[in-house]
Amino acid sequence: MAPPAVLPQPGGRARCRLLIEGVVQGVGFRPFVYRLAEAHRLNGSVRNGRLGVLVDAEGDRDTLDRFLEQLKSTAPATACLERITVTWSAPHHDRAPFRIDTSAGEGEPALYPAPDLAVCAGCLAEMRDPENRRFAYPFLNCTQCGPRYTIIRALPYDRERTSMSWFAMCPACRHEYEHPRDRRFHAEPTACPVCGPRLALLDSEGRPLHVSDPLEGSVAALKAGQIVAVKGLGGYHLACDATAPAAVSELRRRKARDAKPLAVLVGNLEEARRFCVVSATEAELLQSAARPIVLLQRRPPGAASGSVAEDVAPRLRLLGLMLPYTPLQHLLMARVGRPLVMTSGNRSDEPIAYEDHDALARLGGIADRFLVHDRPIEVRCDDSVARVVDTAPVVLRRARGYVPLAIPLTHEAAEPILACGGELKNAFALVRGRQAFLSQHLGDLGDERAFRAWTDAVAHLEGLLGLAPRIVAHDLHPGYRSTAYARTLDGVRHVPVQHHHAHIASCLADNGIDKRVIGVAWDGTGYGLDGHVWGGEFLLADLAGFERVGSFQQVPMPGGEAAIREPWRMAAAFLHAAYGEAMGELDLAFVRRLDRSAWRLLSRAAEQGLNAPLTSSAGRLFDAVACLLGLRDRVDFEAQAAMELEALAEQEADRLYSVGLDELDGRAVVRTPDIIRGVVEDIVAGVGADRIGSRFHATLADVIVTTCGRLRDHSGLDRVALSGGVFQNARLSRLAKGGLERAGFRVYTHHQVPPNDGGLALGQAAIAARLGQDRNGI
Ligand SMILES: [Zn+2]
Ligand SMILES: [Zn+2]
Repeated sequence: MAPPAVLPQPGGRARCRLLIEGVVQGVGFRPFVYRLAEAHRLNGSVRNGRLGVLVDAEGDRDTLDRFLEQLKSTAPATACLERITVTWSAPHHDRAPFRIDTSAGEGEPALYPAPDLAVCAGCLAEMRDPENRRFAYPFLNCTQCGPRYTIIRALPYDRERTSMSWFAMCPACRHEYEHPRDRRFHAEPTACPVCGPRLALLDSEGRPLHVSDPLEGSVAALKAGQIVAVKGLGGYHLACDATAPAAVSELRRRKARDAKPLAVLVGNLEEARRFCVVSATEAELLQSAARPIVLLQRRPPGAASGSVAEDVAPRLRLLGLMLPYTPLQHLLMARVGRPLVMTSGNRSDEPIAYEDHDALARLGGIADRFLVHDRPIEVRCDDSVARVVDTAPVVLRRARGYVPLAIPLTHEAAEPILACGGELKNAFALVRGRQAFLSQHLGDLGDERAFRAWTDAVAHLEGLLGLAPRIVAHDLHPGYRSTAYARTLDGVRHVPVQHHHAHIASCLADNGIDKRVIGVAWDGTGYGLDGHVWGGEFLLADLAGFERVGSFQQVPMPGGEAAIREPWRMAAAFLHAAYGEAMGELDLAFVRRLDRSAWRLLSRAAEQGLNAPLTSSAGRLFDAVACLLGLRDRVDFEAQAAMELEALAEQEADRLYSVGLDELDGRAVVRTPDIIRGVVEDIVAGVGADRIGSRFHATLADVIVTTCGRLRDHSGLDRVALSGGVFQNARLSRLAKGGLERAGFRVYTHHQVPPNDGGLALGQAAIAARLGQDRNGI
């Protein structure tokens, strides 16, 4: 029997229609298809459609197969092809040359806005070529690079709906923009010195300084040790000479940022290697199109001439470095010739300033000069932060360069979902179908300004994606602003999600699986089902639900929230849990330091539970040990003590502390006061803090392996997911993963989204999507 006419005959002429879904708009994908089709002498067309890019191609069947193959294998690195649907049909005997169709379907919204992309090699070469018309022009870009997410007001992505709409293209730019063979064909933000944005230099009051070269004026200010606010892609940066201790200290003082590490911009990879140890994976991460800040092992001070000032990242072995990603940063670095501190333009914990008037108002008392330009920023977006843990990159703060790339879920959402995230390091998520769009890092919502920025960001992304959420997932914590916000929404279905379940679900979603696992969720604070503060948890979990099968022993947090900011309170509480009243007899500097009021607070907390919520938090255990080792009594930011403790633990541990594992109501309880006793004995015996730090980390990794082993015996599960802020700790993550793998476990860790609370929304979203499916569309 003859095959139906629609099936292509091998070797004969055929026609196919391709629907290509994924990040294919705003990344030069249509010109790529056009050039490829031309090279294969195909007929047909390519155009933007509502679901993605549509290609109609006609030619020899064999040629079409090769075309399809190369379409997948040679697509621009900035495109992300999620799915290609191929429909074959009989040939139309279309002999017209292949074309880019800009008429049909272009009014339809593009479903995948692209992230901002680091300036490409082609544009950099033009910028450095004195013969080129864009020589030394700080705003050049092309279809492969430049601003995207931060300039988009609405979709579909075209110039009219970006902040480039203010700039009318000159004839030369328009010619490039309209010619399919040009590398700026439909490069929406394209610009040149004739028609595009310009730089200006302002004084500390925001008054224009009439200088011929604003860049040179900024360079001079930076070299003189001054602080310059630089308008970037997603907001203002504050910059100063990173090698000048006085400039760095002054920046800290004016910014009211006591000890948080500051990011450093270096000119190139070689310069990064002068200050830090950079592995091949780290080099790749530094040079990726997303250009995150990468946390790197610092070389000992003095090893490099013109060292980065100690005050950039006090008491930490890690330094956050990034490479230039905008043409402006390249120009600046080439002229200033030294590493620059490049930190978010804000005071303390406020959101980064991105609107010009707001930046001038808020940074006026901080910056000596403003290097600005006239291209408005539509979306506030911080730099991303990443780290290589055990040879694989982990995003710790997901923002510029990654957002709004979608993360595919294992279950399709029946209706649009808003997942509100947590309170600290907040990011929210929107779900459409199988795609979870995680917002950029929006910071700590405790600050009123940050909360307003958060609601604006929710509205903006909902508008951009054209979504009206019908399902709203949120944390259980009644004190979180994101929870309170979720509860004010009417006419939607609420899905409350326990904090640590969300962490484990986030790790599952990050790895694209929905399997029942042993979830190790360790962090600082998460609201438990019993109303206590959880944070050292072992769960049996999948997206459908969880069971709490193990946790750290509970200890009181004397003074409640104050115990988070003041680790000395936790050190005292743990000592009390380990020794009772006998802690007074311990030969410890810490105990001698405690004054009478501290003792009173402690005994009231222990005996009456007065203002002393119970916690099983792993983060608080790190705080306590860091404090006992004399690292600090108070912290300026979350996880500071834990980071310093990790920095201490550089050597391999020579022994472990013994830790008991109790059983309580069928739940494994890790006797954390045992660890404190081990640490105290070491301190009394004069063992060095670095060695104690190593033993402490190794002990916790062993606790994970032992407890998971026991849970495997009961449950038969041999997959483990590690999540929660504690797993930002590279040492603990590496030890735990290695130990678990040696014990025969399959281990899942985070990569695309942070293990910290920045990843919570993805977990909430995955759980809500799964729930929707169970209820058959709710
Ligand atoms: Zn480019
Ligand atoms: Zn132009």
